[in-house]
Amino acid sequence: MLRKAFLFTVIFLFLVGCNNKEIISYTRNDNKLVSINYPVTNVGVLDEAISTYVNRIYLEFNENKSVKKPELNISYTYKEVNDDIINVSIQSEIVTDRTINKIKTFTYNKQTNKFLTMEDLINDINVLDYDIKNLLLEKYGNINMEYLSKVSYDYFTIDDENLTIYFNQSEIKNSSNELIYLDIPLNSLKLLIDIDKTEDTDIYLSIKKKDISMDDKVVALTFDDGPSQYTDKILKLLKKYDACATFFVVGNKVNFYDDTLREMLKQGSEIGNHSYSHKLLTRLSEKEFKEDLNKTQEIIKKLTGFTPKVFRPTYGGYTNKIKKYTDLSFVLWDVDSRDWSVKKKDKILKNVLPNVKSGSIVLMHDNHEYSLKALEPMIKELKAKGYKFVTVSELLELKNLRQE
Ligand code: ZN
Repeated sequence: MLRKAFLFTVIFLFLVGCNNKEIISYTRNDNKLVSINYPVTNVGVLDEAISTYVNRIYLEFNENKSVKKPELNISYTYKEVNDDIINVSIQSEIVTDRTINKIKTFTYNKQTNKFLTMEDLINDINVLDYDIKNLLLEKYGNINMEYLSKVSYDYFTIDDENLTIYFNQSEIKNSSNELIYLDIPLNSLKLLIDIDKTEDTDIYLSIKKKDISMDDKVVALTFDDGPSQYTDKILKLLKKYDACATFFVVGNKVNFYDDTLREMLKQGSEIGNHSYSHKLLTRLSEKEFKEDLNKTQEIIKKLTGFTPKVFRPTYGGYTNKIKKYTDLSFVLWDVDSRDWSVKKKDKILKNVLPNVKSGSIVLMHDNHEYSLKALEPMIKELKAKGYKFVTVSELLELKNLRQE
């Protein structure tokens, strides 16, 4: 337990040194399923508050020994409200014999070095208070009235359209596992601060078509769980050797990496969907599954103009029933680098190179440095053996053509 807390602290200190915003990512797939993503804002006090909170949730999760394969998902939202104010939310979901959803939000003014409350943003909090209680009753009928009488508005996020107020599950009587929230349109509020809107990207970036013939030996490299600080370096290597890959990105990570995502497409690589917050899909309802996938589709489209066509299930887990919930093609792999587990360049190469045949899909991860280290020798060797690199969609198309 302590070792893991220590690990976060080390990464945290390391990253605070840089000026770029970064996402801390931690995944585990052994007797526990863990996917943690949270941002480093480079504002010391704010980052400390966020990482302390995340560590606390992780320790709490680790104390649970009652269930087989418990699952923890921590995801975030990040919004630069204006030049001074940053709003971050950390959502956590712990799945054991039941599901517990929690949210905590942080709103920080860099100029005054202060955490802000709802009262700092809204002029007419008393008027709002009345409306909120009515809206809550309207949306969630079975609310504990005692709770409602002393409800507070500690947790909120802001996007371009809404102020969203969250209420933790334990505080409101509700049988569903979902977070309880209200969206309040910004234009209905008297705000004490300015809000900068994000510009929409509506440039369509087409995937560069490659010159592949029916008899070519082809291989599709794939990277899961990114983007991360290593993804740009991977793209640079792919470009150097005129190769490409398919990046199955995690929706809640892409915010800081819009340039990286556009560069993928520009180079002829492909972006695939790897869910929004890396939950184990077989535990989701149809509605939750669709929402999770669509949220990822939408954010990728917003940042790049491109809508993914392929999907890789988290932890490789899915059922035929789930497959029917979406039009996206489910894509697994036949060659597993096991990069996250072997952590060594030579072992990754040994897991991959002897096993690649024409039409292979190779599984790697771009959220740590191991596969990056193996990538250059891997590409060189595959090229020497006469392989051409294709994206997953190109490979599927080719397989279809070959069957006809
Ligand atoms: Zn994954």
